[in-house]
Amino acid sequence: MTAIDQYAVFGHPINHSKSPRIHGLFAEQTGQRLQYRAADVPAELFRSAVETFFADGGKGLNCTVPLKELAWQFADRLGDRALLAKAVNTLARQTDGRILGDNTDGVGLLNDLTINHRIPLRASRILVLGAGGATRGIVAPLLEQAPAQLVIANRTLEKAEAIADEFADLGELHACGYADLNSRFDVILNATSASLGGDLPPLADDILADGGCCYDLAYANQPTAFVNWGLRHGASLSLDGLGMLVEQAAEAFYLWRGVRPDTCPVIDLLNRERTVPPLRND
Ligand code: NDP
Repeated sequence: MTAIDQYAVFGHPINHSKSPRIHGLFAEQTGQRLQYRAADVPAELFRSAVETFFADGGKGLNCTVPLKELAWQFADRLGDRALLAKAVNTLARQTDGRILGDNTDGVGLLNDLTINHRIPLRASRILVLGAGGATRGIVAPLLEQAPAQLVIANRTLEKAEAIADEFADLGELHACGYADLNSRFDVILNATSASLGGDLPPLADDILADGGCCYDLAYANQPTAFVNWGLRHGASLSLDGLGMLVEQAAEAFYLWRGVRPDTCPVIDLLNRERTVPPLRND
């Protein structure tokens, strides 16, 4: 019998990762024979850990905080999405032994927003909070949706400005600080890591349009501070990033196995396993 194909997620910290469960459910659903584990890999050990993983026959890796930029540097080849994002969350060993780096975060977010939740992005006024690696991964796919407006607000203004400059060829986007936000948005995406510490970016009370949607890329068993902010400010839908997590995993699974899992039953199951269901105002 041939050895089972090996996959893993590397990150630091990694102990609460849902990725092994998600990929296990995908494998079961699609009849694929594979093993997927989580490994705590700090940045300074990243290169040696990845080299060992692939030298031992590993087929594919996910890389999460704080390793996405290192993974981008490591890859032998980069897919278009990773080239633009300058961040890699998926490494795949190709038949010639070279390592492909891709970024599935953007498509994961889009699939959750537009397919799972039917949130319209075309002609919408969209605000992205934060200018880190996650924002880099989602800006290009958001611009492809032809929003009426795309604004990136960040605590460190220069980082938002750098992203606005880099992606300027793909569409119109503006960078600003939180204090400069003076219009209303139909969709507000929180791509800061503030929620992880129970914090919120400093947001004025009047920036969410009537019936607008809030989406926190972070996820937790309880509603995050930003999901609660959205509900308090009248969002028609205020969601966290569990759906995005499953969708970006499905895209990675497809890259590795050539098979697209059905994400809905997996999202439903993970939602049922949370202590509190996702909150809605509708
Ligand atoms: P980074 O560390 O690259 O960037 C963090 C960003 O958050 C920076 O812009 C930083 O601002 C900002 N920030 C941190 N704390 C605060 C605060 N208290 N107030 C205001 N801004 C703050 O992280 P990533 O971009 O990689 O990840 C961002 C979030 O997205 C995380 O919560 C992560 O879990 C989530 N994520 C979820 C995914 C999913 O599948 N659901 C996929 C990818 C990411 P500054 O630049 O000023 O320091």
